[in-house]
Amino acid sequence: MTGILSARGLRKRYDGRAVVDGLDIELARGECFGLLGPNGAGKTTTLRMLLGLASPDEGEIALLGHPVPQAAREGRVRVGVVPQVDNLDPDFTVRENLLVYGSYFGLSRAQVEGRLPRLLEFAALETRADARIQALSGGMKRRLVLARALVNDPELLFLDEPTTGLDPQARHLMWEKLRLLLREGRTILLTTHFMDEAERLCDRLAIIDHGRMLAQGEPRELIDRHIEPEVVEVYGEGVLAWFESHGKRLAARAELHGETAFCYLRDAAPAVESLKGAPALRFLHRRANLEDLFLKLTGREMRDGA
Ligand code: ADP
Repeated sequence: MTGILSARGLRKRYDGRAVVDGLDIELARGECFGLLGPNGAGKTTTLRMLLGLASPDEGEIALLGHPVPQAAREGRVRVGVVPQVDNLDPDFTVRENLLVYGSYFGLSRAQVEGRLPRLLEFAALETRADARIQALSGGMKRRLVLARALVNDPELLFLDEPTTGLDPQARHLMWEKLRLLLREGRTILLTTHFMDEAERLCDRLAIIDHGRMLAQGEPRELIDRHIEPEVVEVYGEGVLAWFESHGKRLAARAELHGETAFCYLRDAAPAVESLKGAPALRFLHRRANLEDLFLKLTGREMRDGA
């Protein structure tokens, strides 16, 4: 196997249950690849195996050309990781956190000191180098964890839900930073629960559930392949009656979830027209998106931890 990261036939069982059940993943250099799936789908277990932090029961992994788990350490030297939970040291300052992390990669204090200005600038924390972690906002902490993951100048970044818990401004800034890293030619493997984020950032993505691959490809191409092009979401007083009389008849696929009717259509005009005569109903007419695809493939029922 060659290339930046590849895995074939990955399997992992916990307590007799298959958590990862035959996954093939191949990243191209310089791309942003999304790994999507509901809670419990097997994303974290997959990431842990790819990094050599958990051993697969079956399958082959090559991380930057090194077999994993046998030579995971050699592979990880040029990998940066942003974990789901911020594990910054709260007793240290911003600068100290970067220095300590650099030492894990065998970098001297002087080497990390040399990289500090760029890392701080990247994290937009130039004026906060001596601030304690508690004094940082959620967005600042997340950007610091991202900057920390760059301390070893990685070719490949593993980002586990990098924007969870951030407000919209902080998310947009994070996206800007991730695009910058892609422009520098780095490769990103990203997990996220935000479908708009995946659609925006990912060149390709995989949707998994119960440890199995449900779909893989470019976001737009996958949406076009699996979902009707137009969507009308209808809610409000009388939605059930409208769903029965019009929604089901006009849509190629129609679903009622809670208080909302989702109509998937080749042409939304007749449905929109029918709603003009129902002023109590509110509706949203939009283009099919990645969330529609995700829900079609993984279902709408709640998962553990949701
Ligand atoms: P995701 O990241 O997609 O939410 P995970 O990979 O964390 O999914 O978990 C997949 C399944 O494997 C879950 O049902 C979880 O409870 C189980 N699991 C994960 N790690 C362990 C473990 N160390 N021991 C036992 N079960 C585990």
